[in-house]
Amino acid sequence: MQNQIDFSHERELTVDDLCRRLEAYNPEADIEFFRKGYFFAEKAHKGQKRSSGEEYIIHPLNVVATLLKLRMDLDTLVAGFLHDVVEDCGILPKEIEEEFNPNVAKIVLGLTKISKIKFKTREESQAENFRKLVVAMAKDIRVIIVKLADRMHNMRTLQYVSEEKQKKIAQETLDIYVPLASRLGINSVKAELEDLCLRFLKPDIYYRLAEKVAMKKSEREKYIKEVIEDIHEKLLVYSLKADVTGRPKHFYSIYKKMIARGVDFEQIQDVLAFRVIVNNITECYKGLGIIHSSFTPIPGRFKDYIAIPKVNNYQSLHTTVIGPRAERIEIQIKTDEMDEVAERGVAAHWAYKTGNPTNGKNLAWVQELVEFSKESENSSEFLSVVKTDLDIGGVFVFTPNGDVYELKYGSTPLDFAYAIHTEIGNHCVGAKVNGKMTPLRYTLKSGDSVEILTSKNQTPSKDWLSIVKSGRARNKIKQWLLKLEREKNREVGRDVLEKTLKLFSTSIKTFKKSTDLKAVLDEFNLKNDDELFVTIGSGSLSPDDVVAKCPSLRDALKAEQNKEKIEEIKSYSKKLSQSAKKKAHKDNAVIVDGMDDVMVRMARCCNPIPGDPITGYVTRGRGITIHTTGCNKINESELGRTVGVEWNSEFNFKHPVNVRVITHDKPGILSQISKNINNAGINIRSAMAKSLPDRKGSFIFEVEVKDYSELLKTISAIEALEEVISVNRV
Ligand code: MN
Repeated sequence: MQNQIDFSHERELTVDDLCRRLEAYNPEADIEFFRKGYFFAEKAHKGQKRSSGEEYIIHPLNVVATLLKLRMDLDTLVAGFLHDVVEDCGILPKEIEEEFNPNVAKIVLGLTKISKIKFKTREESQAENFRKLVVAMAKDIRVIIVKLADRMHNMRTLQYVSEEKQKKIAQETLDIYVPLASRLGINSVKAELEDLCLRFLKPDIYYRLAEKVAMKKSEREKYIKEVIEDIHEKLLVYSLKADVTGRPKHFYSIYKKMIARGVDFEQIQDVLAFRVIVNNITECYKGLGIIHSSFTPIPGRFKDYIAIPKVNNYQSLHTTVIGPRAERIEIQIKTDEMDEVAERGVAAHWAYKTGNPTNGKNLAWVQELVEFSKESENSSEFLSVVKTDLDIGGVFVFTPNGDVYELKYGSTPLDFAYAIHTEIGNHCVGAKVNGKMTPLRYTLKSGDSVEILTSKNQTPSKDWLSIVKSGRARNKIKQWLLKLEREKNREVGRDVLEKTLKLFSTSIKTFKKSTDLKAVLDEFNLKNDDELFVTIGSGSLSPDDVVAKCPSLRDALKAEQNKEKIEEIKSYSKKLSQSAKKKAHKDNAVIVDGMDDVMVRMARCCNPIPGDPITGYVTRGRGITIHTTGCNKINESELGRTVGVEWNSEFNFKHPVNVRVITHDKPGILSQISKNINNAGINIRSAMAKSLPDRKGSFIFEVEVKDYSELLKTISAIEALEEVISVNRV
């Protein structure tokens, strides 16, 4: 059938054949680069032989043939030629990088690493095997695709190795590479690997099946033709044009049915599978309706993988009906595109022209790979092992470039930000996980692709300590907070001491030049002037104690006329230690530098919420207005009258925020969004809806959030809906 990928060992394959195949799907490909890969490999493997006695180069040629069938990009194809040269010929990755490019070298190096993995037996540690493969794959999924093509050819020529080796390799293929191909959705590879495994693991069953399928071949082909014509006819009555094909199922799937039902081949009826390819999803359902009304459907056999795709992105409608000869036949209805995805899986996502696939898509695949679901057919065991693995080993998270980081279980995007770089952590304002805005408190899962958003205005805050899980992030935040506090105290302390000294007609400048400074430092056991300022600013040393120890002021302090001045100093000191205690004023959402009990109001234009960088503006008669820093609606006359403000972390209050959501028009979408918001634990104050042209809808939700991270949580809850086009704070 069309799109059915036929893999077979090609003995006479030449590089010219492959060039023609490459040009057939990618006429712009750099053929010289492709050939260069071949000649490099041919030279490196010169004199080496396969177990079959053939020249070694026939192996890379066949591997590339498979990659061409999957229509991979040029770098992957060249890596296919070179995949064994590091391991078998002692070529250095550096040479490949110089001769070709870093991408090719990276893929070859990844393959060399996989070849060194000692896979443990299933009982021992499948988790470990999987972990190693996921890490290799995380760097570049193309590594695994080449590995599958490599394994495919080795399986096809497995008859040339010892029986013991046959069993070992076939078992490893069935345990590791088949589930992997399945998870990656490359069904063409999966199906053939399964049949090959059956051939070497259960040869008696395999050959019996092969014989029986072959025996009835001509009769079956006639029947297939009959059914195809029948389906065509029925569809045409309703003017539905479709491509209909049919074939016997793969041996392994027949074998699985025999095992599952405990029956012999003769009793397996539905060995034929038909495929109906139509133009669009509407036609899929139309086709299903026609088939169900023309043939008798078997109850319980209908599956809608279009509405609910399999985890590996497989989409199709499946049904089983009673065929024209009262035989059960399985029918799959799908579009061309769905069929393409089913055959090529993850490989279908590679843009062969640029060799630069959309990373998000690939990483989403990796994520699905580790997020096993009930849907997965033959890998439930695999699944549970991997879950255990994640608990033991922590989580693997990726940068948008595909670099992998291993983090402690329970880590958040903030931990990830600090794992990348302290500066990234310190300026982190938010995170996109798998392309969606996600609260900083989100618990990362293996396979998540995390992009950290930073702003130079952002700095760490105390509540970050409750978000992070890693010691590194915690230390960095604490360091920052201490440094910040220290700087503030130093300024305050310096200021207060300056004022104090001024009362005695002297200054810090003079103080530092005289013996006073040294006397004070000695007395209080301080290192330098900075430390003195910090100690004063923090309220633990009062300025009157400092002046009392200054030799040059000893007389002045005793003088009767200075009594008032000393009282004044004492009152500063008192205020200072009080304000240190009062730092977190519980009644205001915002703390205004140097001012208590001041009226504070949030600007309506930008409506800041905790977590936003903010600036205070002094307004006449209305106290202080808080705008987000950089708000462009600030009244000209207010400019220049700013005052330092910061969010009060002690203050707990719900802030109203408006969120605009644009969606595709669909009945019930408003209630669906509301439900998602409520499920996220967010309260909705009001909602407004209106229709837009192009069958779109616009909604404005007024929600109540505690801070910025709750807003992000709200946004990501809304974005989780497929119909949602955009979500913005307004
Ligand atoms: Mn190989």
